[in-house]
Amino acid sequence: MSELRIGVLGAGVVGLTTALQLQETFRQAKVDVIADKFNTDTTSYVAAGIFRPGTSFCGPDDATTSKWVNDSYSYWDELRGGREAANAGITHLSGYIFSSKSANIVRNHLIEHLVPLYRRATEAELRICPGDWKYGSFFTTILTETARFLPWATERFKQNAGRLVKKEIASFRDLHGGAYDVVVNCAGLGAKQLCNDHKLVPIRGQVIKVKANWLKTFFYGDYDTYVIPGFNSVTLGGCRNYDSYDTTVSKYDSLAIRERCEALVPSLKTAPAVAEYVGLRPHRDPVRVERETLRCEGQSMKVVHNYGHGGYGVTTAPGTAKHAVRLVVEALSGSSKL
Ligand SMILES: Cc1cc2nc3c(=O)[nH]c(=O)nc-3n(C[C@H](O)[C@H](O)[C@H](O)COP(=O)(O)OP(=O)(O)OC[C@H]3O[C@@H](n4cnc5c(N)ncnc54)[C@H](O)[C@@H]3O)c2cc1C
Repeated sequence: MSELRIGVLGAGVVGLTTALQLQETFRQAKVDVIADKFNTDTTSYVAAGIFRPGTSFCGPDDATTSKWVNDSYSYWDELRGGREAANAGITHLSGYIFSSKSANIVRNHLIEHLVPLYRRATEAELRICPGDWKYGSFFTTILTETARFLPWATERFKQNAGRLVKKEIASFRDLHGGAYDVVVNCAGLGAKQLCNDHKLVPIRGQVIKVKANWLKTFFYGDYDTYVIPGFNSVTLGGCRNYDSYDTTVSKYDSLAIRERCEALVPSLKTAPAVAEYVGLRPHRDPVRVERETLRCEGQSMKVVHNYGHGGYGVTTAPGTAKHAVRLVVEALSGSSKL
């Protein structure tokens, strides 16, 4: 009997969490991760990595959205509680979200009852940061530092006999020819062209990494302002430019991010910048986790899509990966290779 072969397209946080879960489910299968960009060159590397889905994050229905978020939290929390947490870049983090505009901004129906602590900020806490803050919440969540997680997950994947293939795919036809029994498409924004998917839109983001190891608490303010401590640096953000493909660092964005973050946390004025990054968030409403059978040169090709996580791919990757693996099981049911 020939062996089962599974191809995962994409080596970002979505592709790697999917590949690892496939290896756990199909222990005898040969799994390849195929991508033109790895680690530092992916959007996933740019992420601050905080577990906090936006309230607009959505799957095809509310139940699926909640399941993805809950399954993801369980995955990250299990890693956080294990001996590999530091190597994988995972830790607990607590902090504040403030708003002077709306009480809705500081609430989050997707995680309020999931994380260990999510409560209203007291009057005294509303005065911790300069500004006329009217609303606030304090919560504890998980941080996944992707600069650690991506290499750690890649190493684990290789230890389980996974293979990395560096290659740009112009069309799913490039993966055809009997090489794989099923392909899982975790190409992020790359899926726009591969699937001709007009619903997939880039939302450009820029961040500054600064040295400020005295900061141990995260802070969110109005207008996409955030200060998120990581393992090696603190991430300052941000911006959201809808439908922008500009991957260059903008000095105007840098100045605006600095100004807003320093207004929120004045001690940042002495924090030197160590790096600046731009990433294009692969936004799709809803995120696409679906099975499809394509016709290639008269033959059928099984594909499971898993892309479009927007600004919340680190948060939700393990949950959509679990769903995608279930779809792979369905796609392969009846296969003589199982
Ligand atoms: C500034 C910023 C801050 C963020 N902060 C957070 C945060 O705090 N929390 C959070 O949850 N999320 C955050 N995000 C969002 C998060 O980064 C994304 O949702 C996530 O990285 C998407 O992961 P992905 O694996 O789908 O895509 P990517 O990381 O972009 O990976 C896509 C992979 O597919 C491969 N690929 C694509 N097309 C092809 C092709 N044709 N041929 C071969 N390979 C291909 C690429 O090479 C790459 O390996 C942030 C994003 C930005 C920009």
